[in-house]
Amino acid sequence: MKKLLKLILMAMVIAAFAACCSKKDNENTGNVTGQDTSLDDIKAKGELVLGLDDAFPPMGFKDDNQEIVGFDIDVAREVCKRMGVELVIQPISWDAIKFELSTKNIDCIWNGMTYNEERAEAMTLSIPYMKNTQVAIVLAASEVNTLADLAGKTVVIQNGSTASDAIDANEGFKDSLKELVKVDDNVQALLDLKVSGSDAVVMDEVVARYYMEKEAGTYKILKETLADEDYVVGFRKGEEALCTEVGKYLKEMAEDGTLAQISETWMGEDLTTVE
Ligand code: GLN
Repeated sequence: MKKLLKLILMAMVIAAFAACCSKKDNENTGNVTGQDTSLDDIKAKGELVLGLDDAFPPMGFKDDNQEIVGFDIDVAREVCKRMGVELVIQPISWDAIKFELSTKNIDCIWNGMTYNEERAEAMTLSIPYMKNTQVAIVLAASEVNTLADLAGKTVVIQNGSTASDAIDANEGFKDSLKELVKVDDNVQALLDLKVSGSDAVVMDEVVARYYMEKEAGTYKILKETLADEDYVVGFRKGEEALCTEVGKYLKEMAEDGTLAQISETWMGEDLTTVE
């Protein structure tokens, strides 16, 4: 019985991904004619505005020269080059991603954004391009070694992030915590950890690994993970022409090795999953 349930669940997840950029998303297109002009609009405008939380290394973040760089930025820049448009980068608050898209301040969210059902309802999502897990990171000197050790302790997460989904999905863990604090971004969350304002941060593994290396000896990542995730690019609901075009170049770049090469530059290995 359990096996059957698992199979049904798996089929549902596959169906959800198969529906990426699918026609039925067209319903909510803002265009008065009801037609999806998203790709033509971007080409006419000559630019694609990418929205990101600029404190999310190595996907998209401000480097020491205050320049926004990262894996997603390099991939998006190459996709834009192949599409014949300019890439424009627009930092936004992660908690406002749906609002920023709907008000057309940005054309896409491209920043290690995790697939979830709520986002699939509200946006048109690309094919998945990378896997991620949600992990708990603590100070290296901490006595905390397991999720159970965090009972009665304070955990910080980024507001609007899927770290919240991961914690909700682990009820026992959530109930065991003294407090769950939400801050604007992961830089702030790690700062809280360092000044002993909290005991752990739950965040994307790819970001946690970046800081493990950058600030060697400062942190440790707990072995138990909280959730397995897929990264996707988010577009306005119904803009599947643009979504499909971006997906087409992602596939092309997987085939010609560009994606693997960009991943190796930023992550030291190929973590991409586009086929
Ligand atoms: N992967 C997390 C999410 O999608 C965090 C992404 C981010 O802050 N850029 O919510």
